[in-house]
Amino acid sequence: VRALTEADAPIFRRELREFLEVHAPVEAVGARGRSVDGIPDWARRWQAALFDNGWLIPDNPPGLGGRNASSVELLVYLEEMVSHGLVRSVHYPGYGIVAPTLREFGNPSQKGLIIPAFRGDETWCVGMSEPDAGSDLSALRTRATRDGESFVVEGGKIWTSYAMLADWCLCYVRTDTADSAKNGVSVLIVNMQAPGVTVHPLRQVTGQAEFAEVVFDGVVVHEDQLVGGLGQGWQIALAALGYERRGLWVEWLAGIAYGVQELMLFARSSGAIRDPEIAMDLAGAYERVLSTYALGLKSLPQTSTHDLGSHSLLKLAVSELAVELSDLGIRIGHAQDRVDGGLPGPFALQQLFRALGDTIGGGTAEMQRNAIAVRMLGLPGPRR
Ligand SMILES: Cc1cc2nc3c(=O)[nH]c(=O)nc-3n(C[C@H](O)[C@H](O)[C@H](O)COP(=O)(O)OP(=O)(O)OC[C@H]3O[C@@H](n4cnc5c(N)ncnc54)[C@H](O)[C@@H]3O)c2cc1C
Repeated sequence: VRALTEADAPIFRRELREFLEVHAPVEAVGARGRSVDGIPDWARRWQAALFDNGWLIPDNPPGLGGRNASSVELLVYLEEMVSHGLVRSVHYPGYGIVAPTLREFGNPSQKGLIIPAFRGDETWCVGMSEPDAGSDLSALRTRATRDGESFVVEGGKIWTSYAMLADWCLCYVRTDTADSAKNGVSVLIVNMQAPGVTVHPLRQVTGQAEFAEVVFDGVVVHEDQLVGGLGQGWQIALAALGYERRGLWVEWLAGIAYGVQELMLFARSSGAIRDPEIAMDLAGAYERVLSTYALGLKSLPQTSTHDLGSHSLLKLAVSELAVELSDLGIRIGHAQDRVDGGLPGPFALQQLFRALGDTIGGGTAEMQRNAIAVRMLGLPGPRR
């Protein structure tokens, strides 16, 4: 049933298993990939150990948390992590979005922030969305006005993941109100402890507050903290979205490949497979997961990070499949924590809510469809 077999990358797999056996902390097994109440010490040590040993982002070069792993090796890595129930980190934006973006656009002093972001020594959030600028980033209104060698930031962001834990924010601001919507956008690195920054956690339907509203009230940011050039924000946003979407779909791909296998085993052992409707739905999901897996495996080596169309397609497919699997899991009673009356318990529902949220974060499913239409099919429309 596995998408890859033990025969794939056997030396790589053995080395990884040996590393995990020695280094993986018990707390990382079964931990959520997200933290809301601060970052536990074990998670800091674990992320740093993965980075230092080239196992955080295996396809990165040595020295940047990797070992130049091939696409197959990368998927073997993610599959091993998911089957061991291990998370890499409890805060994704730093190593997944900010570090690669600063590698591409940062000035020499900003490049000094890259390794702490990968290792998790310093934590980051990404401030793109605003109440009236989600899918349409070009509508953003948070302003950064020049004041000598600094900018003064006024405005606010919303849905900012991990803002309550973050040391820094990669913040998209309007530096030129006279220029066209896209050309007037720049990116600043904002210290989240600076005077004038306030974070209001937002409780989600899961009951947890993983993201927040962030208010900037006269926050002073030195011009050295401008990423790229003035007005280069749109180009940086497209690159950052490429890193984010690629990171998300590759990670989730291993999750759905493992998840569908788990569901099939459970449906067999519990007898749920004898329900013809369940059997048909499970077979359909299995077929879609495997074909998506094959497409992902084929696309990984061929697709540059900046190929937003391909990343949109795979992010869309994988996130919608994750919703389908969560829903199917609830229907066949896979949830171990069912409450009285047979309704799925809080954990099963959280999985579903989480999966639904993942069809929105990083760009909504509709916006991914727009991107596929415009970037892959050449149809007219918005290009985010
Ligand atoms: C779990 C999660 C984590 C997030 N983390 C972050 C973060 O760390 N940083 C950050 O900046 N943002 C973050 N976001 C915000 C996310 O990027 C936005 O929610 C998303 O871009 C949609 O914006 P919006 O919520 O304003 O919805 P809107 O843009 O108002 O969209 C509302 C609805 O209209 C549809 N729609 C809008 N425009 C179009 C169009 N042109 N064509 C077709 N349909 C359209 C949308 O698909 C959606 O269904 C996160 C969101 C979630 C759910």
